[in-house]
Amino acid sequence: MSLSSRFSCLDGHDPDALTVEQARAFIHSQLRPRLAGERVALRAALGRVLARDLIAPCNVPAADNSAMDGYALRHADLDDVGTTSLRVVGTALAGRPCAGAVAAGECVRIMTGAVPPPGCDTVVMQEVARVDGERVLIPGGQRKGQNIRLAGEDLARGRPALTAGRLIRPAELGLVASLGFAEISVFRRLRVSFFSTGDELSSIGTPLAEGEVYDSNRYTLFGMLSRLGCELLDLGVVADDPQLLAETFRQAAAAADVVISSGGVSVGEADFVKPLMAELGEVLFWKIAMKPGRPLAFGRIGGAAGGADGGAWLFGLPGNPVAVMVTFYQFVRAALYRLMGADPLPLEPLLPALCEQGLKKAPGRSEYQRGILSHAAGRWRVRPAAAQGSGVLRSMTEANCFIVLGHERGPVAAGDVVEVQPFDGLI
Ligand code: AMP
Ligand code: MG
Repeated sequence: MSLSSRFSCLDGHDPDALTVEQARAFIHSQLRPRLAGERVALRAALGRVLARDLIAPCNVPAADNSAMDGYALRHADLDDVGTTSLRVVGTALAGRPCAGAVAAGECVRIMTGAVPPPGCDTVVMQEVARVDGERVLIPGGQRKGQNIRLAGEDLARGRPALTAGRLIRPAELGLVASLGFAEISVFRRLRVSFFSTGDELSSIGTPLAEGEVYDSNRYTLFGMLSRLGCELLDLGVVADDPQLLAETFRQAAAAADVVISSGGVSVGEADFVKPLMAELGEVLFWKIAMKPGRPLAFGRIGGAAGGADGGAWLFGLPGNPVAVMVTFYQFVRAALYRLMGADPLPLEPLLPALCEQGLKKAPGRSEYQRGILSHAAGRWRVRPAAAQGSGVLRSMTEANCFIVLGHERGPVAAGDVVEVQPFDGLI
């Protein structure tokens, strides 16, 4: 069943094609995270998704402590405007508190992270204090409580430190460690099986016969899926043979939560993916008003989707190597994060950049050109990679961003502002 007809289509060229936004929204509306949780050692949680709220069992920091190297003192001892002379009676180091009490007119030397002695409510940084033998001179104008980090100001005991759905990045690892947890509960890894289809495809390690090309899609897919932390099942190259394909789809769906194929999804004579998907499961749509990547099948195979009882979500990506990457990043990545239980989904920011060259573009479809982004003379600038064919994988290796040209956009003149999607993220 094609759901294309459910959408009012804006595409002037093909009334059956969905816009990118419609397709994304539709995929999102279909998918529900439903992976089971498991406890893993903290480091193994990097890139995984937290399955349960993490309640802080203690305050972080556990006690009030100094934010500066300086002097811990009683604010009431200080003259509001004039200088106050205090006797230095000890030193408090991080991890080594100062024994003994501090009486009126006294203070202690304190280092960053050290707990102030009882009664000391203020820290004066050493740069403003003047040492005078065994005494120290403190200028007026000090604020009560300054330079003291309060117990629980980072994380308060009994409150959620992280909520379920949080993707565990380096900061989260550190935060969990700061609470003392050696293990946390994360969703199990999403299982993804993938394969390439095409009679012309040969696997690396074997010589190429005439008319053959090496299968590169399984390698880009391996890379993109590994970055998401999925558990992978590589089912190799499958010929353009409906029976073999049907068998592979069944096997792939039984083993995984998600099946990704590349190739054979168009309307050529050897393109069996779409009818097979329709026969084995349900194809929810398969044409998108975009370039590259127009034919893309989304659907499900087997029992109730989600993998728990043999069913799986299915993405039939086009065969062209650039189209595989574009459709993965524009549709599959967010879909997999959703199935992984990530909430919120990671950002996919767009950046305005000055386009240094004119670009051909017709309204009525979204385009994802490969761009080279640089920063010069105070602003972001982008130029297209040399060869933009959807089979030219070199364009992806030369590029460091997609130039995203929206559905309605017409041609771009040199000097126009366009939106770009950088390949690199900080974390
Ligand atoms: P298809 O989508 O099957 O019509 O394939 C479109 C183009 O992509 C053809 O030129 C194929 O040879 C090429 N192609 C398909 N699959 C792969 C692959 N796994 N690796 C490299 N090129 C491929
Ligand atoms: Mg093919």
